[in-house]
Amino acid sequence: MNGRLTARGIVRRYGGIEAVAGVDLTARAGRITALIGPNGAGKSTLFDCLAGTARPDAGRVLLNGRDVTRLPAHRRVRLGLARTFQQIAVFPTLSVGDNVRVGAEHRQGRTDPRAVAAQTARALDLLGLRDVAAEPAGSQPTGTLRLVELARALAADPCVLLLDEPAAGLDAAQTSRLVAVLRGLAERGLALLLVEHDAGLVAELADTVYAMAQGRLVAAGPTAAVLTDPRVAGAWGART
Ligand code: ATP
Repeated sequence: MNGRLTARGIVRRYGGIEAVAGVDLTARAGRITALIGPNGAGKSTLFDCLAGTARPDAGRVLLNGRDVTRLPAHRRVRLGLARTFQQIAVFPTLSVGDNVRVGAEHRQGRTDPRAVAAQTARALDLLGLRDVAAEPAGSQPTGTLRLVELARALAADPCVLLLDEPAAGLDAAQTSRLVAVLRGLAERGLALLLVEHDAGLVAELADTVYAMAQGRLVAAGPTAAVLTDPRVAGAWGART
């Protein structure tokens, strides 16, 4: 269950733009790490490099000490790296339960249907989705779909979980559940890394914060220190 994800010197260019210009970052087991920064800072690009949906032009990504820089996203999932997306990506015609089952089936070695069913049920319960498990995902509101995405990621039994704006579209009750679930996961030894624009949520949840602007880190360290750093407050003001 314990996980660790490390980025070393990540560079990713789009044409002439260095979207990520040499970033080091570590998400540790048992910790909630947040990545913050204004629009266009490079957070999503860095996230994609970590998850395997983008290839860095330079630098390395290590998952539990193993170099995964050249591995595609689905191979990283099998090694314990799961993610959720900023744009919700559920299968609308599948039921909520079947969407979560897809995550359970993605994990290596899980060919036993009973194990898949058990892991799916656990993830649905954890996110309070049992009552809507048989409903088509497309009929559910955005807040519920965020939780479906998280349940799907958790059903793969990850040791590192990447979350792209997990609270976007959640109501207060769903946000409280999310906070409790994420804390519980960290207590069980998962390494969590989230991109989040809600400063209150970052302050409440994160142990460590990395702040980016224009492709570079402008500050990194304990949450309170980074959030009160004048360079961060200035750069982050756009979305808070
Ligand atoms: P946001 O908070 O708006 O999601 P972000 O911090 O995630 O922003 P990125 O989306 O990573 O920032 O963008 C970083 C830079 O890279 C921006 O200048 C953006 O225009 C550029 N960029 C990102 N993706 C692409 C792409 N596929 N093609 C060209 N340029 C891109």
